[in-house]
Amino acid sequence: MQILKEKDALKKQIGAFKNEGLKIGFVPTMGALHDGHLSLIKAALSVSDRVIVSIFVNPTQFDNLQDLEKYPRTLDEDISRISEISKDVLIFSPPAAEVYGGDITSQVFYFDGLEHQMEGKYRKGHFNGVGTIVKKLFELVEPDKAFFGEKDYQQLQIIRKMVAKEGLNVEVIGCPTDREASGLARSSRNERLDPVARQNAALLYKMLQKARENFGTKSATDIISWVSEELQANPDLKLEYFEIANADTLESIGEKENGQRYRAFIAAYSGDIRLIDNIALN
Ligand code: AMP
Repeated sequence: MQILKEKDALKKQIGAFKNEGLKIGFVPTMGALHDGHLSLIKAALSVSDRVIVSIFVNPTQFDNLQDLEKYPRTLDEDISRISEISKDVLIFSPPAAEVYGGDITSQVFYFDGLEHQMEGKYRKGHFNGVGTIVKKLFELVEPDKAFFGEKDYQQLQIIRKMVAKEGLNVEVIGCPTDREASGLARSSRNERLDPVARQNAALLYKMLQKARENFGTKSATDIISWVSEELQANPDLKLEYFEIANADTLESIGEKENGQRYRAFIAAYSGDIRLIDNIALN
């Protein structure tokens, strides 16, 4: 397993891959890898000659310093998890100064309004941080294909928008959300839930499934009020938002329109742990 921490060494290796005409698949992560991340790496391995996984806890996408400090850093375990599926993955795990130099700030992006919806309302500056790091990593890695999870669907759409607006030459591939047996979407944060809270958190996915079942027959307003009532009756989970939105523009639904794709999105707290999930409705 090749593990690089320096940009120059990475660029040299990428140059060698390109000279050999190899197709590069790229999976950006913040580490603390779980089966969801591994599903992205497997998808990348299945269609690429070489796969690069970055493991970098990106400071500019955190709106809360405590959150950044508490974020789990488990590089040794991450390396062994990746080596269980392939020993042929290149891991890029740089220190912040290597990526940002002395200037740990975000570029300001305009994602045509995608950045103002849902997560953008509750996590100020988050998507500028995400755009900044992904653009820097794309410039370094020059991937043919890059793999992102639908678990963070708004992020996936924002990356697609950035690639289109900045004219970057990379194909963005969205991968399905990997779930625990209960239905709870896998997340590094699930490790911080105690067993009862973890089981209860599966309610979020149940709500999304119910929303999908009812989407054909009930209005969005009815579904939204039903979900918020159900969650209010549950003392373990505190709803931050539940929205039904156009899957492309992420704008909240008014009237359902023919030919449009819709998704439901949910964010809720279990104690101080923030969980998000989403589902396609049609
Ligand atoms: P993160 O390390 O949280 O920044 O996530 C790295 C990548 O893994 C992102 O593209 C996420 O959307 C993706 N990801 C995280 N959790 C899951 C999951 N449960 N299923 C599929 N992809 C996921």
